[in-house]
Amino acid sequence: MKPRALLALTLAAVGVFAAGCTSGGASSASPSGQAPVAIATTSVLGGVLSDITTCAGTTSTSLMKPGDDAHTYALSSEQVAQLTKAKLVVANGLGFEEGMTKTLANAKTDGANILEVAPLLDPQPLDATQASALDPHVFLDPSRMAKAADLIGAALTKATGDSKYTDCGTKVSASYTDLDAKVTEIMAVVPADKRKLVTDHESFGYFASHFHFTVIGVAIPGGSTDAETSSAQLATLVATVKSSGVRTIFASSSVNPKAIQALATEVGTVKVSTLYAESLGAPGSGADTYAGMMTTNATLIADGLK
Ligand SMILES: [Zn+2]
Repeated sequence: MKPRALLALTLAAVGVFAAGCTSGGASSASPSGQAPVAIATTSVLGGVLSDITTCAGTTSTSLMKPGDDAHTYALSSEQVAQLTKAKLVVANGLGFEEGMTKTLANAKTDGANILEVAPLLDPQPLDATQASALDPHVFLDPSRMAKAADLIGAALTKATGDSKYTDCGTKVSASYTDLDAKVTEIMAVVPADKRKLVTDHESFGYFASHFHFTVIGVAIPGGSTDAETSSAQLATLVATVKSSGVRTIFASSSVNPKAIQALATEVGTVKVSTLYAESLGAPGSGADTYAGMMTTNATLIADGLK
């Protein structure tokens, strides 16, 4: 083969690699049977991690699958064993994975390499009146997840010695900055006086402050998904929702809809729209990647409130 032909072939191969890097889907483009280089706890972080490892030509996985409630999910003993085998475990942190707090701490003691991203992403209090408790729901702010992609890429490079992960983290980060602009554009149809969110639990704090919405009420008090609403809290909430004039309130695909449906029934004039608030959607749902999840949510919110 002539040197010129060889050069052309090499350039073509580089071109294919670069194209693979920008696609950023959650589906694995890697050779089948390859062991995952890293594991994420939640499906949402699994989507971010997958964007990076797919770019790098390797595979990753997540412990939670679409629809699992991250607040209550507990690991099987088989999953616990995976934690120390992976080069890196990407966790949300700030108490989001309530059902695996102990397991993650034990795995860390046993030598697992765990990166908790939320504490590194300028965390804010869950509630202005409870300054001590930090809100773990950082993933609903694409600008924070752009930073997370950079951090995960760098951590993968540190864990593997391979610089391609840092490069891919940078690429994925840039794609989330574009996503941020796209989400803003989709929701531009909602006027300022209609930017009021009523959700099943306290998950939209970062989203609201980033995209200029106000969370006017949550059906489940406290920041997690398993608290009970008192009849007095429900009565106050019903009055708030009625006087706000909102016509749509929002459930999450991974959270028991009992409380939000009870609220909708009491109010009587609102419909419930289900967002992918803290879980990716199933394959083929359109919300099976981080970008797909965020644009689907933006479209549902825009349709519900405009
Ligand atoms: Zn939550």
